Amino acid sequence: MYLKRKLNDDLLIFKGLRFPYKANFKNSHRYQTIVGIGGNIGDVKRRFEHLFVEIKRDKRVELLETALILKNPPFGFKDQDDFFNSIIVLKTNMQPYLFLDYLMRLEKKFGRRRSFANAPRTLDLDIIFFDNRIINSKKLTVPHPSWSKRESVIIPLSGLNL
Ligand code: ADP
Ligand code: MG
Repeated sequence: MYLKRKLNDDLLIFKGLRFPYKANFKNSHRYQTIVGIGGNIGDVKRRFEHLFVEIKRDKRVELLETALILKNPPFGFKDQDDFFNSIIVLKTNMQPYLFLDYLMRLEKKFGRRRSFANAPRTLDLDIIFFDNRIINSKKLTVPHPSWSKRESVIIPLSGLNL
């Protein structure tokens, strides 16, 4: 069950039990990271719910908070369904590259197949911030290069209680 609110002709907000969500603070892991989640194939909200449950029971990460879900039009390759996007805030002891591998394995687990840039996807997991690290390598750019330009990041991010 989600409450829906229209922001404008393009943007729709969904609020439910698990998005947005704030955990009781435990804080047992070292690094705080902000992860953008997105998808536009099948029942994406349901997939986000499954991801939430999966992450919650994984001892390697600690789920602190999730944001509302934003439905928004695709960019780049326009001839595809609208995207659903949200943000999750995690703590982990993994270093950035290991954490990236962890996210990629999760994407795979949730059915992601890589085809072309900006292609439709079941689940996309992007590291937006990793503590206060700045990383610029072929494999990893942190903070995520276009985070400040995308409504799909800014709108969910602005509602967090960080
Ligand atoms: P996009 O998210 O840009 O649509 P992909 O999800 O297919 O594209 O990711 C392509 C590559 O982007 C990954 O293999 C990863 O190595 C790289 N990458 C660079 N910076 C990041 C980041 N901050 N978070 C996630 N992936 C990143
Ligand atoms: Mg990605």
